[in-house]
Amino acid sequence: MTMQRALVLEKQHQLALREIDLPDAVGPGMVKIKLHTVGVCGSDVHYYTHGRIGPFVVEAPMVLGHEAAGTIVEMGEGVDSLAIGDRVCMEPGVPDPNSRASRLGLYNVDPAVRFWATPPIHGVLTPFVVHPANFTFKLPDNVSFAEGAMVEPFAVGMQAAAKARITPGDTAIVMGAGPIGTMVALAALAGGCARVIVSDLAQPKLDIAAQYQGIIPVNIRDTDLKAEIDALTEGWGADVVFECSGSPRAWDGIVDVLRPGGTVVAVGLPVEPVPLDIASLSVKEARIESVFRYAHQYDRAIALMGSGKVDLKPLISETFPFEQSIEAFDRAVEARPSDVKLQIVMDA
Ligand code: ZN
Repeated sequence: MTMQRALVLEKQHQLALREIDLPDAVGPGMVKIKLHTVGVCGSDVHYYTHGRIGPFVVEAPMVLGHEAAGTIVEMGEGVDSLAIGDRVCMEPGVPDPNSRASRLGLYNVDPAVRFWATPPIHGVLTPFVVHPANFTFKLPDNVSFAEGAMVEPFAVGMQAAAKARITPGDTAIVMGAGPIGTMVALAALAGGCARVIVSDLAQPKLDIAAQYQGIIPVNIRDTDLKAEIDALTEGWGADVVFECSGSPRAWDGIVDVLRPGGTVVAVGLPVEPVPLDIASLSVKEARIESVFRYAHQYDRAIALMGSGKVDLKPLISETFPFEQSIEAFDRAVEARPSDVKLQIVMDA
C-alpha cells in the first residue's frame, strides 16, 4: 500500500482531494497504469448526491471514477499481451474467474465482481492503478485517451445493441438522450439499424444526438412518439425500443410503439418499481431484454472506434484538470442539458 492523492467521496455530499492508502503491488498477471483521462459517470455523481445506488451503500471513504484510460508503466510476471508505454483503457469490473457466472461467460453478473467506485471498491481518480492485464485493452494510435475513457460507457451501448439482436435495416427507438442513450443509438446504428429515433424532453441533448447521421431526434414535450414511429414505419412500429431514460413514465405505453414480435431492451435503471402491462406485451409476443454493464464488449467497442465508424468525440463536453475534480463533480450535479460527458485529465 502507498499513500496517493485521490478524489475521495468521504460520505454523501462530501468530496475531498486528499492522500489515501491504495494498493500498489504489481503481482503476477497485473499491470500498473498511469492514468491519463477519467470520465465523470452518472453513477459516480449518484453516490456523491445520494450516498448509495440500490443495495450499494457508501459506508467508508471511497475513491470515485471508473471510466479510464492511461499508459502502462510497470508489468507483473507473466504478462506478454501488453508492453510498457502502451496506451490502454481498462474494464473496471473484475469478476472471480472461477465463479459459475464467469465460467458461463456471464462475468458481468458474477455476484463476486469487484467494480471500481462501487462500494467498497476504490475507483481510479488517482494518478496510478494496478489492474489485471486481461481487463486492460490496448488503444489504436488513432483513438485518443479522451476517447479511450469513453469505451466504458460505450460498452454499455454495445451490450444493449447485442442483446437486441439487431437485423440490418431495423428501425429503433432510444428513449433518453443522455450519454448512455446516445451511445446506445450509435451502437445500434453500427450494429445495422437503418435509423434510430432518439426521444427526450431536453432539446439541447437532442441537438447533440442529431449531429449523427441516422439519428432522428424527437422532442416528446411537443411531439407524439407513436405518431412519429407510425409515420416512419407505416404504422408497423419499431423493431427495437431501448429504454435508457430510467424514467418510470417511459414504460407507460412502451409496447404501443413496438412492432409485433419486437424487442424492448431495459437499459436505464428506474429508481422505483414500474408497472408493466403484460397483456399488451403478450399480444405482440414481444421480447424483453435487460442490460447490466457489459461482458466481452471492450474489444468490439475499441475496434469500432478505431475503424472510424463510431466517433464519440462530439459527446465530450468539457475537460477539467485533476486538481479541479470537485468542481467537475459539482458541474455534473448541475446536470446542464448541454453537457453530455465531462472528463478529468490527471496530469494536465
Ligand atoms: Zn460509467
